Amino acid sequence: MQEQRWMSRRGWFTSLLVAFVFTGAASAGSADWQSLFDGKTLNGWVQKNGKAKYTVEDGAIVGTTVLNSANSFLCTEKMYTDFVLELEFLAESGMNSGIQIRSHSYKNYNNYRVHGYQIEIDTSSRAWSGGIYDEGRRGWLFDLKDKPQAQAAFKLDQWNQYRIEAVGDRIRTWVNGVPAADLTDDMTAKGFIALQVHSSKEADKKIKWRNIRIQDLTSKRERKPLKALIVDGQNNHDWKATTPVLKRLLEQTGLFTVDVATSPGPKEPMNSFKPDFAKYDVVVSNYTGADWPKETQDALVNYMNNGGGLVIFHAADNAFPNWSQWNEMIAVGGWGGRNEKSGPMVRYRDGKVVLDNSPGVGGSHGPQHEFQVIARDRFHPIMAGLPEKWMHASDELYSTLRGPAKNMTILATAYADPAQKGTGENEPVLFTVRYGKGRIFHTVLGHAAQQMRSVGFIVTYQRGAEWAATGRVTQVDVPEDMSTADKVSLR
Ligand code: ZN
Repeated sequence: MQEQRWMSRRGWFTSLLVAFVFTGAASAGSADWQSLFDGKTLNGWVQKNGKAKYTVEDGAIVGTTVLNSANSFLCTEKMYTDFVLELEFLAESGMNSGIQIRSHSYKNYNNYRVHGYQIEIDTSSRAWSGGIYDEGRRGWLFDLKDKPQAQAAFKLDQWNQYRIEAVGDRIRTWVNGVPAADLTDDMTAKGFIALQVHSSKEADKKIKWRNIRIQDLTSKRERKPLKALIVDGQNNHDWKATTPVLKRLLEQTGLFTVDVATSPGPKEPMNSFKPDFAKYDVVVSNYTGADWPKETQDALVNYMNNGGGLVIFHAADNAFPNWSQWNEMIAVGGWGGRNEKSGPMVRYRDGKVVLDNSPGVGGSHGPQHEFQVIARDRFHPIMAGLPEKWMHASDELYSTLRGPAKNMTILATAYADPAQKGTGENEPVLFTVRYGKGRIFHTVLGHAAQQMRSVGFIVTYQRGAEWAATGRVTQVDVPEDMSTADKVSLR
């Protein structure tokens, strides 16, 4: 009894604290409560996957199990990024259910299977209600084994209240005012909300939801276009043809406005070239050529140290072999005299990243050919939902790149087949790098405009640029024309 009183006092205090913290968050954004359910109809909702019945009775949405049905989801038509969601529910004993947030359904992800974060509703003795399960994806992300107070907060056969906060990469839940899950995960920044009726061996089991309301906390900054700067002017590739494609692909996302800074030509003095990097959310390099003035190099280093974003596109990683900070930003590069003194080669062997210090020239490729890109970090926001393997258009497969290779995350590799004069290694083709507070997305793909039509290139470039700019990816769509494991798709 004493224990219980203590718990309820603590619960009261926590609620107060939550309300206080939340008031702070609310004043930062435009945060009015909006109702997601009008109490009478299912307007604004659409059912996906299973055949459970969803009806409206006495101001509540009622989900009813039917036999031989897959998991069913009643989904908001709208997508939400950062928000606070509150709702009440009453689940019959023996039911399993949950609230999906930042969730999706795409043809090219398991044939429309709904997937994403689920705030669990668990009427079993396990009592993990309020925990976070990754539906149709990774399984449990935050269970309540070590949260006895949250487990005790759930009331069987009564109305319960959830508060769900999803802001940035942090997702927190409260069960009847008691803190439950606190998860940091950046895989998916945006998606729909859905009410689940789990598949069941029993028909006519019911769950009810009511008073479903949301505060949209998507920040003002995120509603403004991101500013991108493409840098070109010298390259041993046709930059005059590829820069307009790089620009158009960013503009097509609807997220970016794009400027271009073109340097003086190879035989002209470079000292006038001083792009104002600090004005931009992301810089895309389509440049390899003469060294930039020291002042411009320092400006880029400062920009990155202060949290800037940089995209390295194909031959941009040939640039500046003697600029040490640049080599750290790109992690690995090729040609320009690079060799074992530049750093190791990065290999992917037996499921692990291996740094190979054996001597040799940095940078090589065989003849252009189609090759398969293999995702190695499928939980990274740039890769989320994309197939494990896809075919890339006939392109150069950059190999034996060398560099400091620090703070690098390999997103995808491609096998450099000896039959195509390759190294016999899985060469990194998409990766990210952390530099200071900044983020770099490096794609070695895209020799010319033709290769940039490859859908796998387009999607990863668009997502990679957003991630470099903001640290998150709201382009969550898995396109219907995505290349498959054995067939390249072009736009
Ligand atoms: Zn090339």
